[in-house]
Amino acid sequence: MSLLSPRILIVEDEPAQVEILRFNMEQAGYEVSVETDGEKGVQAALEDPPDLILLDWMLPNLSGIEACRRLRKARKTREIPIILLTARSEERDKIRGLDIGADDYVTKPYSIKELIARVRSALRRPTTRSTDGKLVVGGIEVDIETHKARFDEKTIHLGPTEFRLLVVLMQNPERVFSRSQLLDQAWGITAELDTRTVDVHIGRLRRALARAGARNVVRTIRGFGYALESVSEAAR
Ligand code: CA
Repeated sequence: MSLLSPRILIVEDEPAQVEILRFNMEQAGYEVSVETDGEKGVQAALEDPPDLILLDWMLPNLSGIEACRRLRKARKTREIPIILLTARSEERDKIRGLDIGADDYVTKPYSIKELIARVRSALRRPTTRSTDGKLVVGGIEVDIETHKARFDEKTIHLGPTEFRLLVVLMQNPERVFSRSQLLDQAWGITAELDTRTVDVHIGRLRRALARAGARNVVRTIRGFGYALESVSEAAR
């Protein structure tokens, strides 16, 4: 098994479904582990967080919905992409109406090709999650409503400009912004300001992040601008 293969946790109770999923995910190059009830699925994800979770809706002990909610609450698992497997399209519609934080839904009987395409796309997606006005990237959490930012439960003390800069960067992790794009988006004017103003505030933002323990989060793209690292290790 290659260390480079993304790891997928399958939480599904029907043996036939498990075998189909396991076979096809392994064929697609993923490393697979399986749990057959909701409770054990959550436990396994917390103990050894996978890169993606395929989560059945109807599960013994703990439903997929409840499992999803718990995974979204825990710091170790809240950024893991979750694809919910549902039995009928009505269930899928029902789940859509609930804010449980799944990234995607696939209705059984699903096409394996489609499922693999969705797995690939979920694994590529930068890890931003926005639920109830909160953004979470690489261990940093920002609450847009209350203007509070935290890293690992520690408050990040930010001025209003630094806060807006952080929000712009967090909404598009890994995207490279030029200084003038940041001026437009964080200052909200086609600014008369010198682009060096951006450097000053990025400097303040970095120091504030570092004081809360989040280092090397804002990357400099020499001669161009800045980007936010979305990989959580970069924030450690
Ligand atoms: Ca089931």
